[in-house]
Amino acid sequence: MKKVFIFLVSTCLLLTVFSSYVLAKANHPSTEGNTNISSILTYDDMIKELESLEKRSKGKLVVETLEELGYENSKSEEGRDLYVAKIGKGPEKVWIQGRIHGNEPYGTEATLELLKMYVSNQSPEIQKVLEELTLYVIPMYNPDGSEKNTRGNKDSIDLNRDWKKDGFEAVESLAWFTYWAEVKPDFGIDIHHQGLKKDSQTGEAVTMSLGVSLAPGGPTLPGIKNGEYDEVTRQAQVYVYDSLKDYGYTNIDRYTTGNARDGFTEIDIKGGVVSAMMLGLEYDGINEDNHSHPAVFFETSGNTRDGNLGQKARGHNIRHNVLGIQNLLYGLATGEVYDVNADRWDDIPRPDIKGYQTDYN
Ligand SMILES: [Zn+2]
Repeated sequence: MKKVFIFLVSTCLLLTVFSSYVLAKANHPSTEGNTNISSILTYDDMIKELESLEKRSKGKLVVETLEELGYENSKSEEGRDLYVAKIGKGPEKVWIQGRIHGNEPYGTEATLELLKMYVSNQSPEIQKVLEELTLYVIPMYNPDGSEKNTRGNKDSIDLNRDWKKDGFEAVESLAWFTYWAEVKPDFGIDIHHQGLKKDSQTGEAVTMSLGVSLAPGGPTLPGIKNGEYDEVTRQAQVYVYDSLKDYGYTNIDRYTTGNARDGFTEIDIKGGVVSAMMLGLEYDGINEDNHSHPAVFFETSGNTRDGNLGQKARGHNIRHNVLGIQNLLYGLATGEVYDVNADRWDDIPRPDIKGYQTDYN
C-alpha cells in the first residue's frame, strides 16, 4: 500500500514537473533569434515577390533599390540592398514602412499584401487611392535584423531609436533618412507588432493597438505645428478604429507599454523614426528645410517572440493590418480623415497611465 502511494505521489510530481515544463515552454516558447521562422518571409522571398508584382503590374508598380536610385549610403550594414516600391500617381505622398524591428515580420507580409491589392484590384476605392496618392512602400526597413529575427540590426542597434539630432549609428538609418528627405512625404505609416496582449479590464485578446511614437496629447506632439499633427494623428487613428469595427473579430485599443502591476505608460520618444519625421529632423544639410509630416503606427498583436502562439492568428493579423492601412489610405485620398472629430480618440479604450516613457530627460 505504502509503495503504491509513493509511486502515485512521484508520478504526480513527475506529471506536475512535466506539465509546468510544457506550460513554461508554451508561455515562453522562444528567446529572440531562436524562433522557428521557416514560415516567415525572408529577404530573398521579399525580393522575388516584389519583382513578380512589378512584372504583373505592367508599369504601375516600380521597384527600386536605394543603390539604383544613386544614393551614396544605400545598403544595410551587412551589405544588403534596401528596397522601396512605388505605386500611384497622386500628388499626396504616403510613406509606409514595415519591419524596422526585424523580429516583427508581419510588416513585410502586410506591405506585400497591400501592394498585391493595389496592383491587381480594379475597384473604384483602390483606383481613387492610386489617383490621389503616391505610395512609397518599404516592406523591410531592417533586412539584417529580419534575416536574424532580431529587433535591432546587425550590431543590435534599435533602428527605431536611431534618427537623432546628432546623427545615425547605423548606415541603414542614414540611407533611409536621406531618401525620406528627398521624397518629402505628406503622411507616414509605420507597421509594428506587439506581443500577445489582453485588455486590462475585460481580459479579452487585443488584436491591434493604435498610436504613434510621440503620444497624441502627450508632452511633445501638441507643440508641433500649432497642434496640427496632434489633431491629424488622432483623426487618422479614429478613422481606422471606425472602419475596422465592422470586420469580424477585431479588438482595438490605444498603444501602451508597461503592465497592470508596474503601471502603464505611453511612449514619447524623439529618436523614433516617425517621431523624427514629425519633428522635421535635420542632419548635415540633408533636410535643410526641416520637412515634416504627421504619422501613425499600427501595432498588430503577436510577433515571433511569441513563437507558435503568435503564429496562430497570423493570417488574420496580416489581413487586419492590411485592411487598416487600406482604409486609412482611402480616408486620406478622399479627405474623409480630416472630417473626423479628433476628440473621439479618447473613446478608444486604454488603461489609465502613470506617465510617459521617453528617450529624453
Ligand atoms: Zn516594433
